[in-house]
Amino acid sequence: MTPDDRVYAYSAVLMGSPILLKLFEHNETLASNVFRLIKLQETKLTVNRQQSEVMSVNHAAGDHAVAVSKPVFDLIRRAKAVSVLENSSFNFTIGPLVKRWKIGFNGNSVPAATDLQALLKITDPHDVILDESSQSVFLHKAGMEIDLGAIAKGYIADVVRDFLREQQVTQALINLGGNVQTLGAGAEGAWAIGLKKPFSTPESLIGVINVTNKSVVTSGIYERYFELNGQRYHHILDPKTGYPLDNELLSVTIISDDSIDGDIYTTLLYGMGVEKSLRYLENFPHIEAIFVTKDQQIIFSSQRQFTFMPLDPDYHITG
Ligand code: ADP
Ligand code: MG
Ligand code: MG
Repeated sequence: MTPDDRVYAYSAVLMGSPILLKLFEHNETLASNVFRLIKLQETKLTVNRQQSEVMSVNHAAGDHAVAVSKPVFDLIRRAKAVSVLENSSFNFTIGPLVKRWKIGFNGNSVPAATDLQALLKITDPHDVILDESSQSVFLHKAGMEIDLGAIAKGYIADVVRDFLREQQVTQALINLGGNVQTLGAGAEGAWAIGLKKPFSTPESLIGVINVTNKSVVTSGIYERYFELNGQRYHHILDPKTGYPLDNELLSVTIISDDSIDGDIYTTLLYGMGVEKSLRYLENFPHIEAIFVTKDQQIIFSSQRQFTFMPLDPDYHITG
């Protein structure tokens, strides 16, 4: 018996993404409970359907405050806190721009610059008014839209991890379309998580990240994009300009305890670029990053919580 014979994999398609759950026991009931939990969370947070807690806030923009459940309120408060940081490239009120670009959905087009200028006026996170006592959210300007797309998966990955822990599970992996959260170790001592080779086949890897009890989140410009007249437009937008973020980076990977941190920091650091991010992370020792640049460098902020095995001779470890 090879070590992997002990691992049972369960899969589903949820939140528009392939979802993978690995357990060390054959347990259909547990797997379906996990998938049901993910669906339940999605119904609260999604903006890709007409109805959800977040959509009820969006529908009331410019008009009135809407009370939401405690977890959704806490998530929105967290998203606002990161969005209002000085020069933050994370902005959870970017919804109107995301909807306009439709990157990753049908009907892509490059918006007119004047359209983007107009939409930028309704993407100020300061215009989200939170009231603790009534747990309500008010979008001050008509047309504003919250979009939790950049943190929902991380948040849900942590919810799943906590649920599995409550069920006395000590070893498991959940992959929510790129957000990986792990419990304990894998079959061979650590979980092996592939770092995808940009713009290549899904099986091609730059390397493998080995972790125990950690989240691994990657945000890359090759995940969702469209091409027009030789230009590539990807799905992480610059809240300052309204256009896709453009710098030396192909991807940012975050290794951390909580997957929500992975989600927040991938987006935040994306906008900072390598140099600034490395300085920034000196103050956050529990967050570690792997940057992959367009000139095929792999750069680590530090390497305390994971090991990395390079697999592609085209990419070089620097620093
Ligand atoms: P993925 O969807 O591949 O997991 P991310 O976690 O980086 O990628 O989230 C991207 C999503 O976040 C976009 O599809 C959009 O809904 C939203 N988004 C885009 N740009 C920003 C931004 N600057 N700040 C916050 N959310 C964003
Ligand atoms: Mg994500
Ligand atoms: Mg992200």
